Amino acid sequence: MQEPESDNKVQFHLSISADRDKFLRRTCPACGRDFKTQIDEADLAWAVAPQFRRMGLEVGTQDHETEESSEPKLHCPYCSHNTEASKTLTNETIDYLQRFVMREYILPMTDNLFSGLDDIGSRSGGFLSIKIEHTRSIFPPRPIHGPEPPDMMIVEYLCCGKKAKVSDGWKSVDQCVFCGTSVVLQ
Ligand SMILES: [Zn+2]
Ligand SMILES: [Zn+2]
Repeated sequence: MQEPESDNKVQFHLSISADRDKFLRRTCPACGRDFKTQIDEADLAWAVAPQFRRMGLEVGTQDHETEESSEPKLHCPYCSHNTEASKTLTNETIDYLQRFVMREYILPMTDNLFSGLDDIGSRSGGFLSIKIEHTRSIFPPRPIHGPEPPDMMIVEYLCCGKKAKVSDGWKSVDQCVFCGTSVVLQ
C-alpha cells in the first residue's frame, strides 16, 4: 500500500544525457539542424514541464509561479530562428521524456486503477464477459537517454559568457544563441 501523502506529490528522477563537456543536443524546429547548449537545471525544468503537461499532469517546480513567458529563448545558430528552449529538444529527448512519464507515472497509475476494478470483471456475466488481463508490476525497462557523443565545436559568446556548440566547420556564427546579439567568430 502506498503512503496517502504520496498521492499528490510524485518525485521524478530524470536523467538527461549531456556530452562530456556538459552540452545537451538540440534541434532547431525551423531548419532541423542540430546545435548544443550547456545544460542547466532551470532550463531542464522548462524543457520537461511541457512533456508532463501534455500528459495531463500538473508540474510543480521549485519556482511554481514563474510565468510561461519567462522561459529562456534560443536563437538558432544556423537560421536565426528564435524560439523557446523547450521547443528545441531533439526527437530522442522528447521520446525519452514521453517514455519516462509513461513508465514512471502512467503505468503505475493504471496499475493501481485496474487493481481496484478487478471485481467488475467477475460481476459482469451474461452476454458480454469482460476479462481484465492484468498483472502487476510488469513495466517496460526504464528508458535510458543517451549517451551523447562529444561532437561539434564549442563557441563561446562573450556577451552572455555562455557556450554553445555548432556543427564543425560552420563558419557563419554571427548571432549569440542566447541573446541574439550580433557577434563575430574569432
Ligand atoms: Zn535553424
Ligand atoms: Zn549573448
